[in-house]
Amino acid sequence: MTVCPACGARVAPWRDVPSGEPGVAPLPVGRCAACGTGVTLAAPAAQEDFHESGAYAPVAPRGAALAAPLLARFDRQRLRLLARACPAPARVVDAGAGRGRFVAAARAAGYDATGVEPTARGVDMAASRYGVALVRAAIEDAPVPAASVDAVSLWHVLEHVDDPAATLRTLRSWLRPGGVLLLGVPNLASWQARIGGDRWWHLDLPRHRTHFTTTGLRALLRREGFTVEHEQHLLLEHNPFGLWQSAVSRVTPTPSWLYYALKRVAPLRAADALPTVAAMPLLPVAAGVEAAAGLARRGGTVAVLART
Ligand SMILES: [Zn+2]
Repeated sequence: MTVCPACGARVAPWRDVPSGEPGVAPLPVGRCAACGTGVTLAAPAAQEDFHESGAYAPVAPRGAALAAPLLARFDRQRLRLLARACPAPARVVDAGAGRGRFVAAARAAGYDATGVEPTARGVDMAASRYGVALVRAAIEDAPVPAASVDAVSLWHVLEHVDDPAATLRTLRSWLRPGGVLLLGVPNLASWQARIGGDRWWHLDLPRHRTHFTTTGLRALLRREGFTVEHEQHLLLEHNPFGLWQSAVSRVTPTPSWLYYALKRVAPLRAADALPTVAAMPLLPVAAGVEAAAGLARRGGTVAVLART
């Protein structure tokens, strides 16, 4: 029997979910009978974990220069969220820091910020692109002294780990009493998850292990000794594009084709490209629907501020 990593209840079989990564077969996802959280029940047949390859490979995506101002805006929204609970100056660790972009932005905003990142790809790019020296380590092995930091950011990381409760326990040990956790994850209880069905962009198989609902996330945080202070559903990063991409995925042969094409993984095929291009004028509509979803607290991803 599989136990829900969020609330501990029983996980029942749910659906097979296709991956946009070429050559990866659909994987079974189960769903918790109590909190609705999804669980990826199998790893891909290949031993590759797709955190340094496929869409996560160390190549610049198509249109990277055009995306830079947008990414800076995303970082500003994330920094404003952090500042609500933990204004600068403060000691911040970004756990699962990716390419170090947020560490650089937080330092520029006056934080004493560092980052922990397990992949070579992330550590190398953080150094070359942002001049940021990340600590290369898995979260549970990172040399962060107990009770030494004011805030930890865990941004679209918890859905990737094998044991979310153990990860939160580690982060809690890093935080001083009353310290802040800024957490971002996809929300399986969102409108866009319903619209996208088994092709919801944020299912992101095979990389995502746990597909949290807000109910499940709150239960897990409570179990691990955190008190939720704020839950944000209106998020520019991930949400409007996620709704649009999930809706378009229902008509393209390749799931999340545009995303994978921008990441230089998906082949440029007319069967995918034509409906995608035809749907581009609907981006503002998708943004409007996602804004309504956010106001109804059903945003495609959520950000949570919690305290120890
Ligand atoms: Zn559950």
